[in-house]
Amino acid sequence: MSQGRLVILGGGESGTGAAILGKAKGWEVFVSDLGKIKSECAADLDSAGIKWEDGGHTTDLIMNADLVVKSPGIPEKAPLVQSLLEKQTKVVSEIEFGLRYTNATVVGITGTNGKTTTTLLTDHIMRGAGLDVCMAGNIGDSLARKLAEKDYEYLVLELSSFQLDGMFESKIDLAVLLNITPDHLDRYDGMEQYIDSKFRIIQNQTSADHFIYNADDKLINKKLKELNPSSTLHPISLETEVDNGAYTKDSTIHFTINNKPFTMSIHELALQGRHNNYNSMASGVLGRILELRKQSIRDSLSDFTNAEHRLESLGNVHGIEFINDSKATNINSTWYALECSKRPIIWIVGGVDKGNNYDLVMDLVRDKVKAIICLGKDNEKIINAFGRSVETIAQTTSAQEAVNTAYYLGKKGDTVLLSPACASFDLFENYEDRGQQFKAAVRGL
Ligand code: ADP
Repeated sequence: MSQGRLVILGGGESGTGAAILGKAKGWEVFVSDLGKIKSECAADLDSAGIKWEDGGHTTDLIMNADLVVKSPGIPEKAPLVQSLLEKQTKVVSEIEFGLRYTNATVVGITGTNGKTTTTLLTDHIMRGAGLDVCMAGNIGDSLARKLAEKDYEYLVLELSSFQLDGMFESKIDLAVLLNITPDHLDRYDGMEQYIDSKFRIIQNQTSADHFIYNADDKLINKKLKELNPSSTLHPISLETEVDNGAYTKDSTIHFTINNKPFTMSIHELALQGRHNNYNSMASGVLGRILELRKQSIRDSLSDFTNAEHRLESLGNVHGIEFINDSKATNINSTWYALECSKRPIIWIVGGVDKGNNYDLVMDLVRDKVKAIICLGKDNEKIINAFGRSVETIAQTTSAQEAVNTAYYLGKKGDTVLLSPACASFDLFENYEDRGQQFKAAVRGL
């Protein structure tokens, strides 16, 4: 029997996954995309016998939906979405739809920065302990597509705020909130709305569920006091000793879950830097809640290899170190990159600004940055912010030009850091493209 009509807005990876799962579960599925659907996705839809359109929306084929799955890329303010909501049609994210069809224990990870790193690390720990785990969400294949193939015992999901916005009834059993700093303010009506979006990760949790959160983050603490959720709380901190979570003191991480202490030196960790200590603590706490063996957690935290473009060291050329942090698309992630460098920095920054307040890094820049190389179409804001603090500011419009300029300005012992604090689509396809072009130019030196 048909479950009803399922309309999917956006035929990208998540939309195609939702369509395939929907079809397998007995829905009458239709996919509609305002832009062009990629040929691989179109081929997958065709071979599953799913009807689709691209290059526009046929309203009549959409407004009769019983349920709509919306791609996180489509803003809620889009007129079509507004019309559906006015008609009281349910509009959910692919994650919410996927979670209807699983019995797995669900781990969900969100935060402004560190989601991908922590999700990969958690997956690595769980896999290392032999668990049947599937990693999905804002990373790799879509959750729905995976679940169309089979169910798993555990899911580890990277959740962006846009995905969380489309979640209403589903529940995350073990939720992680790494940090909240301004980002995406082009899509939210202010910080409060963005914070609410992040906190959806604990909606529907009961005392049997777990919430791991950054106890050093003022915005998180404030919201947590207001909400007073029934979730079991697990703080992580670099500043204070906390119970039933993890804290770092004198270079040692103390995991304090269920009164079963376990310590680890931060020098043993594969991921170095203050920001990564939070990520390692969060993943380790998850491992301890799942009662994985200490040795297994320790091994995985120390032999993990992170994904590209996240403070990725490219080695030295004539004593000048090159670091690719192309994934740093907001000022907070760049703050950590500047903070953890011990050498004079030639900083490559710029692109599409999502509302940065450059004052936040002013002290670090005055202390450590010897030259700024702008890599963006419009660099006025950066020049205005740092013109009086940094003597040398150059403007470039390609990765090659930026690397050549940095190399020319650099001396033995310097670090050239690409940590743009901005999105990339003025000059590049995406942050991966920016990182790849930077790496290729460095290799060419
Ligand atoms: P996300 O998936 O949330 O964008 P990533 O793990 O891809 O996060 O990292 C994005 C950027 O943020 C990188 O520049 C990385 O070095 C930095 N970063 C990673 N973890 C954190 C953290 N906990 N706090 C702040 N910045 C972080």
